Amino acid sequence: MSFAASVLTLYPEMFPGALGLSLAGRALEAGTWSLEAIQIRDFATDRHRTVDDTPAGGGAGMVMRADVLARAIDHASPPGDERPRLLMSPRGKPLTQARVRELAAGPGVVILCGRFEGVDQRLIDARALEEVSIGDFILSGGEPAALVLLDAVVRLLPGVMGNAVSGEEESFENGLLEHPHYTRPQEFEGRPIPDVLISGNHKKIAEWRRAEAEKLTRERRPDLLGAPPQPLVK
Ligand code: SAH
Repeated sequence: MSFAASVLTLYPEMFPGALGLSLAGRALEAGTWSLEAIQIRDFATDRHRTVDDTPAGGGAGMVMRADVLARAIDHASPPGDERPRLLMSPRGKPLTQARVRELAAGPGVVILCGRFEGVDQRLIDARALEEVSIGDFILSGGEPAALVLLDAVVRLLPGVMGNAVSGEEESFENGLLEHPHYTRPQEFEGRPIPDVLISGNHKKIAEWRRAEAEKLTRERRPDLLGAPPQPLVK
């Protein structure tokens, strides 16, 4: 059974977007995964097809209505649908490669893309949505975040990546950032490829790569090695 993604959005034209090309696009054509973009507005009931309203308690912006979103979700994900229901949200748990792997091993995902100030809290609670963030910054909508999540998941589906080994050696897969890469030419603007990489000694090469990965991780992401998060510097 192929991985089934349903995306609830006010901009279904944004899908498959970048996921219609390259690896993900070929896999989509081959039926390794499927993508259904559902227009949330189709579940509004008034003449103007309203999906949002002013925030209770006042303040700027608009909030997506719980009732309209609930109808859209219940349509996309009827009882018995085993797929996790995600809400892209800057307040969510940061997405990790471990969660991406779990999702790729499952039947698919239902993803709600927020717009405006976000969605009514009662919808999140009533439909037990898992809030997922792609980083500590604010996008104008959940669609680019959904594309990012799906890109990360789809490349892990069986048969999508030509060379499966390359996936296992990548950043985060072993808790480290990846070692640097080099290719021809042998010398670029006076900079040679490190000798060890052209030595043909595979044990030495593996040791060098491991040491470089550890050094990079210590310098850039000590938190991956269990160190406390770096203090924020202004
Ligand atoms: N007022 C909200 C931000 C709303 S941004 C707040 O301060 O938390 C509008 C929508 O963009 C959100 O509902 C969410 O779906 C999406 N979005 C914005 N930033 C995101 C991020 N870092 N990760 C995932 N989704 C994000």
